[in-house]
Amino acid sequence: MNSPFSATLRFKVSELASYASCDRCIQRFWRDGEDLAAADHRGKRTRTRYRANRAFAGLSSLDVSAQLPLGTFQSAALRLSTEPFTLGSYPEPVVVSGELPVPLKLATGGFALIRPSTATRSEFSSLFVARQLHAYALLAEDPKNVQRGVHPIAQLWVAWCRRSGDSVHVQLCERIARDDDWFLSDLTRITDLIGTAANAPPSVHCTRCT
Ligand SMILES: [Zn+2]
Repeated sequence: MNSPFSATLRFKVSELASYASCDRCIQRFWRDGEDLAAADHRGKRTRTRYRANRAFAGLSSLDVSAQLPLGTFQSAALRLSTEPFTLGSYPEPVVVSGELPVPLKLATGGFALIRPSTATRSEFSSLFVARQLHAYALLAEDPKNVQRGVHPIAQLWVAWCRRSGDSVHVQLCERIARDDDWFLSDLTRITDLIGTAANAPPSVHCTRCT
């Protein structure tokens, strides 16, 4: 395999959301080392999402939305990374890192991860969110992070929010079905694209490379 990597391949969860829905962008960012951030116009949305996430800390889930399961949001967001692991036939170890959303400690046991999103709800944005939530669950449950106490992850949710001025309102909370096999095959697809010399076509959704 013609891989440019001589060491561990590192995925930030935010980058998985930004680039991993376009095969060409995956190669440009991780394989070819191009800085695609200048083309990313979603910075304001990301800042809003982080504000919304932190605003949940210490609240009851009922204070955020009656659609969420009963529980209490913990007070801290955690920056975590996994132990290096192997993925498919990729020749180098893989590490995922990122900042977990403020976890919701469920009254029924375990935790829920709820990702606020100010994107317009669509099949495409739902895929983004599902990929991120699965990456967060992987982080929380990695053996390296078990002592942080956010496990097991029993539920994954997205809170679709609307921004008005400086405030963010939760419009709809939607549970995302957990499917770790899907997520790991998605990550394997990404490492396969990084590990090949052939250029992939861009996604029809992509606004960066088209
Ligand atoms: Zn692209």
